[in-house]
Amino acid sequence: MSGQVSYSSEACKLPIYQFKKELVKAVKDNIFLVVTGETGSGKTTQLPQYLYHAGLSKGGKIVVTQPRRVAAITVAQRVSQEMGLRLGDEVGYQVRFDDCTSKNTMIKYVTDGCMLREILADPVLTQYSVVILDEAHERSLNTDILIGLLKKTKGASHGRSVPLKVVVMSATLETEKLSAFLGHCPVFSIPGRTFPVTEKFLNLIGPKDTESSLYIKEVVKVALDVHTNERAGDILVFLTGQSEIQKACDMLFQKAEAIDYRYDVNDSSVEGLLILPLYGAMPTDQQKQIFQPPPEGIRKCVVATNIAATSLTINGIKYIVDSGFVKQLNHSPRVGMDILEVVPISKSEAQQRAGRAGRTSAGKCFRIYSKDFWEKCMPEYTIPEIQRTSLTAVILTLKCLGVHDVIRFPYLDRPEERLILTALKQLYQYDAIDRRGQVTSLGKLMVEFPLHPGLTRALLKAAALECEDLMLPVAAMLSVENIFIRPGQPETQKEAEQKHRQIASEAGSCNDFAMLLNVFEKCKASDSPSAWCRENWIHWRAVKSALSVDTQLRVILHRLKQQGVIEKEKWDSNRSEVFRRCLCLGYFTNVARRSIGKSFCTMDGHGSTVHIHPSSVLFGMESQLDWVIFHDVLATSRMFVRTVCPIRYDWVKDLLPKLHEVDVYELSSVARE
Ligand code: ADP
Ligand code: MG
Repeated sequence: MSGQVSYSSEACKLPIYQFKKELVKAVKDNIFLVVTGETGSGKTTQLPQYLYHAGLSKGGKIVVTQPRRVAAITVAQRVSQEMGLRLGDEVGYQVRFDDCTSKNTMIKYVTDGCMLREILADPVLTQYSVVILDEAHERSLNTDILIGLLKKTKGASHGRSVPLKVVVMSATLETEKLSAFLGHCPVFSIPGRTFPVTEKFLNLIGPKDTESSLYIKEVVKVALDVHTNERAGDILVFLTGQSEIQKACDMLFQKAEAIDYRYDVNDSSVEGLLILPLYGAMPTDQQKQIFQPPPEGIRKCVVATNIAATSLTINGIKYIVDSGFVKQLNHSPRVGMDILEVVPISKSEAQQRAGRAGRTSAGKCFRIYSKDFWEKCMPEYTIPEIQRTSLTAVILTLKCLGVHDVIRFPYLDRPEERLILTALKQLYQYDAIDRRGQVTSLGKLMVEFPLHPGLTRALLKAAALECEDLMLPVAAMLSVENIFIRPGQPETQKEAEQKHRQIASEAGSCNDFAMLLNVFEKCKASDSPSAWCRENWIHWRAVKSALSVDTQLRVILHRLKQQGVIEKEKWDSNRSEVFRRCLCLGYFTNVARRSIGKSFCTMDGHGSTVHIHPSSVLFGMESQLDWVIFHDVLATSRMFVRTVCPIRYDWVKDLLPKLHEVDVYELSSVARE
């Protein structure tokens, strides 16, 4: 069969191509295999095709996990295109709330989160012949857990004719560690070809600038300098997140318009600049543009999040502009919560970013920060997610998989015991586990939903009280990114704010959750929702995804209702109050009370000072508030809480003691049983 397959000339040029036969053999001969190679060598797009053409999918599908949703989708698109197939047929993808596969699917790209859910439904993965855990070097929480779970499957064939094959792919380093972890399995290294990259420190950001947003402006300045002074070749700018990228693109666009190509630009073959943003929540058809070569004479400038560091490879990049920062969700022991913050990247990350300029020829990397910043502010390596983020959802999944001893689970890097205990404590607070650490019936229901356990709990209570019509849309809207458009220019910013306030005032009760619900319902009722969104500075695409998420959550809820596992209840209050009281059940861990002036104090025992984020409809109304709950925390100059709702103390009075009731040491003893 393999003799008849022909690969495109482009695919034959990839470093991995020469090792096609050996790779297939290595997968056939081993239960576990580690594959490593430079980013862009063809691991993600090619290896699954080789295995497919070698007939390895005859015993079951080939599944490839990705830490990032966008990567799973774009790679599946690319591979189906390379194979000349329709996406969703033999090659498909499945990410949270979006399943593009069919009965015929043989190569399936999924997020690592989806793969975990798959294991919950089918612990021995009977559907699959090969599981490829990709981007293992990124050390995402879910991939780390999957490596531990799959390690345990070794040898057990569970009625299969051929045992499940596990391939772990990684761009750099750590291969020894991965191999040792998987019983010293073989490592297949694909030699890379890379070209030298000149690295320059521009001293625009110093050790004192870690808390400011100065880097956005500086990055724009440097990108323009590169454009006007350097020879032809595309630019890749690394920034922190969607809003920063949009801001930078707006600024770049304005400044690029003023360039006179007769005088300002050194290389006469360069006659224009094409500015393209790239971030996770971007519509996929726009993402496709990123990969296309720019028109003759035009220089492409991609402004991206870390997604362009390893998950996606853009050809033609010759210049890197590195902001030195990344946006990360970190669990803060001081605050007792996960907070989203912009932090300096690690030195290894900076090297990875720089390397993107040297794939096809020699390149240059411009670091906007100083050598001092490099030495004083940037750690050597990025800490794996499992050691810095909340483990609540993952621990519940493990417990539901029958892994009772979550402390002695085979972790590639053991999280601090404190993080595991915090997760257990939170699960106990949500009534998902009991004092002995056993999953409760509520916990078993909670794991069915691909949502944060707190939000799921609010949803299940709302369902019991028959007001899920209010909670489902809110859960859906919170599951998609960036509903509200916040333009960069001051004039348009005002207009957008006014429109948003208008929607909030129509929502009945003044809080951000009700506002989300109102946007959802307005769109659902409108004849032309996209026009309504445009008029009101709302991302129609985001709402559209939320409409689909709502439907999918409804399906899960409907199934549970039919199984009769949701017991009906009745409370003596009106719907709006029932809604907010249900929210309290999911968010009583995030309660704050107003203290001095506009500041609030969290009630989880840490007593942290927080402020209402300017994006909240309650911003500016602090003096009228007393108790509030909030969805998440963003740390910039201060700790800001977002998506906020005023509550009454008596709604949480009976819940708050639960935050202090159980001693973590008690849970620690049961965790070891
Ligand atoms: P690796 O996984 O080893 O980093 P990939 O398989 O992702 O490598 O990429 C191999 C090649 O395919 C790269 O040159 C990359 O630019 C190209 N490629 C990947 N996805 C796309 C796409 N969606 N459009 C165009 N080219 C792509
Ligand atoms: Mg890859």
